[in-house]
Amino acid sequence: MADTQTLRDAFIEELKDAYDAEKQLIKALPKLAKAASSADLKKAFTNHLEETKGQVERLEEVFAGLDEKVQGKHCDGIEGIIEEGDAIIEEDFDTMAKDACLIAAGQRAEHYEIAAYGSLVAWARSLGHDEAAELLELTLTEEKAADEKLTSLAEGGINDEAATLANAEEEDEASDEDAVAAAPSRTATKKSAPATKRR
Ligand code: FE
Ligand code: ZN
Ligand code: FE
Repeated sequence: MADTQTLRDAFIEELKDAYDAEKQLIKALPKLAKAASSADLKKAFTNHLEETKGQVERLEEVFAGLDEKVQGKHCDGIEGIIEEGDAIIEEDFDTMAKDACLIAAGQRAEHYEIAAYGSLVAWARSLGHDEAAELLELTLTEEKAADEKLTSLAEGGINDEAATLANAEEEDEASDEDAVAAAPSRTATKKSAPATKRR
């Protein structure tokens, strides 16, 4: 029977998980960038792609410093998050709604990574792997900055522009309904819309 696993084993396993997650993100980020309409959002994704390549190299340095083989172990968590992002890319949203959704998808990935690297840094410190902790902390800082960049793009206009399109669309539908008041309403959500009951 194998020996009981220790925190060091868990630490190495999580490093492998993070290594695989970063590699999956290297494939996913260009798709997010391609799907984005806003030039700033495209740039945020492509900038973070370049950072992510550096994060892979940084993890290789961490493995080397610990005398561990560089190895990934499939990260199911980021796979699920990337799948949700892919589903958004496939959806037929208006351009601003799509950008808002791409930001939300990107932030799910960043938050997952912030959680992962937060634990890795803490464990590295507890285990006395100071050099690894320093390196992992650099990546943690980049993940937090990427998340904040996405927040600033969402709050700096993309969400409001998407909401303006959503409200305009709703008003359009409401005036269509006024024109054909007899027709059943598809979206009787606005107070100004005719009071058509669903049944
Ligand atoms: Fe990353
Ligand atoms: Zn994982
Ligand atoms: Fe990231």
